[in-house]
Amino acid sequence: MPPPPSDPESTAPPDAHERERLGNVHPSGWRNPQPADRYRLVVVGAGTAGLVAAHAAAALGAKVALIERHLLGGDCLNVGCVPSKAIIRTSRLYAEMRDAEQYGARVPADIRVEFPALMQRMRGIRARISRADSVRRLTAAGVDVFFGQACFTGPDALTVDGAHLRFKKALIATGARPDTPSIPGLVEAGCLTNENVFDLTELPRRLLVIGGGPLGCELAQAFRRFGAQTIIAQRWPLFLPREERDAAQLLSDAFARDGIEVRLNTRAVNVRVEGGQKLVDLVSDDYKSTVAVDAILTGTGRVPNVEGLNLEAAGVEYDTRAGIRVDDFLRTSNRRIYAAGDVCLEHKFTHTADASARIVVQNALFLGRRRLSALTIPWCTYTDPEIAHVGLYVRQARERDIPVKTFTIPMHDVDRAIADDEEAGFVKIHVKEGTDRILGATIVARHAGEMINELTLAMVAGIGLRTLARVIHAYPTQAEAIKKAADAYNRTRLTPTIQALLRRWLTW
Ligand SMILES: Cc1cc2nc3c(=O)[nH]c(=O)nc-3n(C[C@H](O)[C@H](O)[C@H](O)COP(=O)(O)OP(=O)(O)OC[C@H]3O[C@@H](n4cnc5c(N)ncnc54)[C@H](O)[C@@H]3O)c2cc1C
Repeated sequence: MPPPPSDPESTAPPDAHERERLGNVHPSGWRNPQPADRYRLVVVGAGTAGLVAAHAAAALGAKVALIERHLLGGDCLNVGCVPSKAIIRTSRLYAEMRDAEQYGARVPADIRVEFPALMQRMRGIRARISRADSVRRLTAAGVDVFFGQACFTGPDALTVDGAHLRFKKALIATGARPDTPSIPGLVEAGCLTNENVFDLTELPRRLLVIGGGPLGCELAQAFRRFGAQTIIAQRWPLFLPREERDAAQLLSDAFARDGIEVRLNTRAVNVRVEGGQKLVDLVSDDYKSTVAVDAILTGTGRVPNVEGLNLEAAGVEYDTRAGIRVDDFLRTSNRRIYAAGDVCLEHKFTHTADASARIVVQNALFLGRRRLSALTIPWCTYTDPEIAHVGLYVRQARERDIPVKTFTIPMHDVDRAIADDEEAGFVKIHVKEGTDRILGATIVARHAGEMINELTLAMVAGIGLRTLARVIHAYPTQAEAIKKAADAYNRTRLTPTIQALLRRWLTW
C-alpha cells in the first residue's frame, strides 16, 4: 500500500480532507509514465490553464503530456480562489449574525467564529473540488501526467524527472507566485502569503495586511470578521487602484464599518521582532508610526514563474516581471511554443487562464487564428460588497477618444437591495455617446460578481441598452438595477421633438 500523500510545503493539518486533496492532486508513490516518441502537445504547469488545455486537447484526440512540479489545480484550487471564497462565505455569515438585530432577529451577544472549524470546512470544500482536477480524471482522459520540474533542452524538447519529452507543440502555463515586498526585516520576521495563509489553524490576534489589491482587501475583511484586530496598509490613496474611484471609496467605507484600521498612502518600511511580536514601521506621507502585530500578510502583486525552465534553450523570450512574451495568438518567440494564464497575461484570473488555454488549443492544434484581444474579460473582487467590472473604464474610453455617456443606478433605488438591507453600491454602465453600445460597466453590490455576467453577455453578443430595457427581469432582484439603467438610457431617446409629437398624439 502506498504511503499517505503529503505536501512537504504545507503545514495544514494532515486530516482526511487533506489526504483526499493530495491523493487527487499529487498522489504519493506516483510513477511517471514512459514518454511517447513525440507528443502533439506538451503542457507545462497544471493550474487552470494547463488542465483546461490538456483535457481539451486530449478530448480532441491529441497525444498530450502534462507536467506539474507541485500540485494539480495550481493556485486556484490549492491556495487561491477556492480556499479564499470558502472562508469568505463564513465571514459573510458572521457579518449577517453580527447585524441580526437590524433584520429583527436575535442572536446570543457573544457570537464568535471558530477559526479551526471554518478552516476545516474550507479544507473539506477544497478536497471535494479537487476531484475535478485529479490525476485519475486526467489519465482516464488519456493524458500522460508527469510530476517534476520541466526544463527545456531545445526548441522542441524538454526533460522532466530524467525523462526526455519531444513535442510538436508546447504550452507554458506555469502561473505566478506572490511578490514579496522588499521591506527590511520582513523575511526574517516571517510573513503570510496566499501560499501559507490557508494552512493556519489558529487565528492571529493582531494582523497587518500589506497591500490593498483584491487579495489584501478580501482577506483583510475576512480575518477582521473572524475576530483578528486588522490593519490594512495601502501605499496608494485608495484600495483597488484599478477600479472606479467611487467603487473603491465604498470599499473603504465598508472596511471602516467592519472595524478594520485603514491606513491609506502608507508604506511599511521596516519589520523587527521583539518579545514574540512583530513591530512594523509605517510611513504615511511624513508621519511615522509603529504597529505591533502577531502576523503580517502580504498581497503586493504577483510575479510570473519563468525561472528554472531554461527558456533560453527553447528560444522563448520573457521578462521576469511581465512574464513570457506572447503575440495576440498567444504564440511565443518560438512558433512551436505557446503560453497561457498568469505566466503571460496582465489579467491574472482563473477565467482568463481558462479562456486563454482554449485559444491555445485552437491556434496550436488547428491553425486557428483566435485572438486574445477579442476576449471580453469581466472580474470581481469578492469583498462585501463585491466590486465587479467589465470592459472599458471612462478614463480608458477618453484615452481612446471615445465619447462616453454613463448611466448609474444606486442600489438604494432597487427594491430587492432595500428589502435585503444591501443598499451600498451601484450599477454603472458606460455607453458610446449617441448609441446604446455598452463600452463597460462597474457594479458594486452584494453579489456584483453574479450580476456582471449579464453585462458581459450583452457586450459579447453585441446587445445594447435598448434591448436590455426589453428584457424582463424577475422582480424583485438586484439585477433589476441593470434594467433600470437601460430604462434610463431609453428616456434619453425622448428628444423634445419626439416628446412634443407624443404629447400631441395623446391629447388628440
Ligand atoms: C488568494 C487568491 C485568490 C484568488 N481568487 C481568484 C478569484 O476569486 N477569481 C479568479 O478568477 N482568480 C482568482 N485568483 C487568481 C487565480 O488563482 C489565477 O489567476 C489562476 O490560478 C491562474 O492559473 P494558471 O493556470 O495560469 O496558473 P497556476 O494556477 O499558478 O498554475 C501554474 C502551475 O504550474 C506549475 N509550475 C510552475 N513552474 C513549473 C515548472 N517549471 N514545471 C512544472 N510545473 C510548473 C505550478 O506548480 C502550478 O501548479 C486568486 C489568486 C489568489 C492568489
